[in-house]
Amino acid sequence: MTQNQIFNILIVEDEARIAEGLVDLFQFKGYTADVAVDGESGLEAALSGKYDLVLLDLMLPKMDGFTVCNAIREQTRELPIIILSAKASEDDIVNGLTLGADDYVSKPFSVGPLFARVEAVLRRSRKILEKENFLTLDNITIDFKMLQGEQDGSKIFFTRKEIEILKYLNGHKNTVVSRSDLLREVWGYDDPETIDTRTVDIHITKLRKKVEKDPASPQFLLTLRGKGYQLCV
Ligand code: CA
Repeated sequence: MTQNQIFNILIVEDEARIAEGLVDLFQFKGYTADVAVDGESGLEAALSGKYDLVLLDLMLPKMDGFTVCNAIREQTRELPIIILSAKASEDDIVNGLTLGADDYVSKPFSVGPLFARVEAVLRRSRKILEKENFLTLDNITIDFKMLQGEQDGSKIFFTRKEIEILKYLNGHKNTVVSRSDLLREVWGYDDPETIDTRTVDIHITKLRKKVEKDPASPQFLLTLRGKGYQLCV
């Protein structure tokens, strides 16, 4: 995490004194923070895409925190959630974590340890994002967002389709992906079994020329005859 990174925190909390204390804490740390005072507006704000992390109270007007947590997770796995509550029986903690919260802090809390938990969750979620956005094959690092790779200081350029194939294979690495899977998931064909196309093979051949030392005997992008493809990393 870089020093000057500004994170935007959403605090869903109906107790004004606690909410204000948290806003002060985050501002002091150089973050920005907004408050939602009930579950409904909290959910709406959480799904706005503006926030890097949600601190979520459980006992809230209009919609309780468990429901909010569940509704956020139905829309996105990526937004980190820390539940913050006085309602801290073991059952509640387990329930919150089962619904997909990243962590659980009981009230009353001290600001130092709370902030450390927030930082840890942010660091972890950033690592996961980075993992999803990059692929390293030997001495090549591929940046999915930039559609390019780097090998010993020189750039390798990929088409969007090539990156989509790599991303899909990377999400299913070390398992066999059939040509139909790729046609369905990357090309969006509903009924790939009926399509006679060499487009997947042609793309894989082009990809091998870019990432394999010896494209004729690939080390990463394997063909399993009659079965499909496999990314080995
Ligand atoms: Ca409350």
